[in-house]
Amino acid sequence: MELREQMGPFEAVNYYFEKAADVDAVPESTRAILQTPASELRVEVPLKRDNGDLDVYIGYRVQHDNSRGPYKGGIRYHPEAEVDEVRALASLMTWKTAIVDVPFGGGKGGIQIDPLPLSNAEKERLTRTYTRAISRVIGDHLDIPAPDMNTNAQTMGWIVDEYSQIHGYSPGVVTGKPVALGGSYGREQATGRGCIITMEEALKDLSMPTEVSIAVQGFGNVGGWAARLAHDHGHKIVAVADHQGTLYHEAGIDIPALVEHVAKERTIHGFSGAEARPADDVLSLPVDVLLPAAIGEVIHAENADAVQAKLIVEGANHPVTPWADAILVDKGVTVVPDILANAGGVMTSYFEWVQNIQQFRWEEAEVNERLVKRMVAAYATVRDLARDRGIPLREAAFVLAVARVAEATELRGLI
Ligand code: NAD
Repeated sequence: MELREQMGPFEAVNYYFEKAADVDAVPESTRAILQTPASELRVEVPLKRDNGDLDVYIGYRVQHDNSRGPYKGGIRYHPEAEVDEVRALASLMTWKTAIVDVPFGGGKGGIQIDPLPLSNAEKERLTRTYTRAISRVIGDHLDIPAPDMNTNAQTMGWIVDEYSQIHGYSPGVVTGKPVALGGSYGREQATGRGCIITMEEALKDLSMPTEVSIAVQGFGNVGGWAARLAHDHGHKIVAVADHQGTLYHEAGIDIPALVEHVAKERTIHGFSGAEARPADDVLSLPVDVLLPAAIGEVIHAENADAVQAKLIVEGANHPVTPWADAILVDKGVTVVPDILANAGGVMTSYFEWVQNIQQFRWEEAEVNERLVKRMVAAYATVRDLARDRGIPLREAAFVLAVARVAEATELRGLI
């Protein structure tokens, strides 16, 4: 596939897939099955508002590949969660679960809605209606959702309850649940923790200082925890941003104070310990590391050249377009790709699922120890492959993932 400046999200993932499939001469028949989602469910999600109005939204559950295990991937509530985006995210999950070698495939779901104006009761009704609509295609050995943008442990709690009312007690149907409902200690922090683990491994490889300056885009689950953990490790978070603006403080933002501010105000804005700057400033600051942890395609053809960071750690899914990725490679910027950097979430989701299946609970220290060990190992495998073949980390990650999924597909005789 030819590299173009404008590529849709699913096309962009398949661009990387094709490149990886070329490296290992994956046969055409295997490619066709690995590129196409296995199934796509589109559902109507009616929502009775608190004032009695009825709104109707569209939701999806895309199941990309299950040759290595049940479909696995989050559910997001976002106005841009249209089918091409959800497809791209589902296929990224297939490659991500293969890289960290957990026995899952890839899936993703979403409702095209801006949930921010909804009351808690409206969110609950929306989630329960969506769960009923997709309940016949999910299950603890079939397809296991998890939180993503604008969904959280509470959302997963409602899904477990609604699904269990139809199918009987099924805590393993989702991961990222509240601990009181069978969730795992450490899951909430896991994606951000995984980002910092891979970042620190990359810093060693690049012979960069052990304590660096970081700009973080997004201060939700991934960005918020990544910033907190990086701060605890002695790194300096000089900027934090969301879609409304960037907070900048050259000497380093007091992250615990910002977390307290967000808990009270529900936004990073109005925080007195940093200077307010335009939203996009976060991407082009003179920092060692840039950690995009919000939406997709924020680094593109027009702004990639302005990136000053030496290392980008992709907390978000597909934050860099393929065109921008090529610019970054030319500039010598190292990118730890999404399918590796943010895989700590699905890794710990796997730990949660294992605990659910066994009806057993691990201590938080055990969860975190296992996470560190496996993320360091996954990073090393990708890094070694990149060095051996003389290719960037993203290309190596796709080569590894495609080889693993292609092998499973062929062994199952699906071709
Ligand atoms: P979240 O809803 O908890 O937080 C999202 C953050 O991004 C918020 O701070 C929001 O204000 C900010 N944001 C939204 N739109 C923005 C914009 N246009 N510009 C800048 N900031 C914006 O979501 P999350 O769970 O932290 O997910 C963030 C990203 O990480 C997504 O790409 C998601 O797919 C990816 N991801 C999440 C997980 C997980 O476990 N939650 C796992 C892997 C990958």
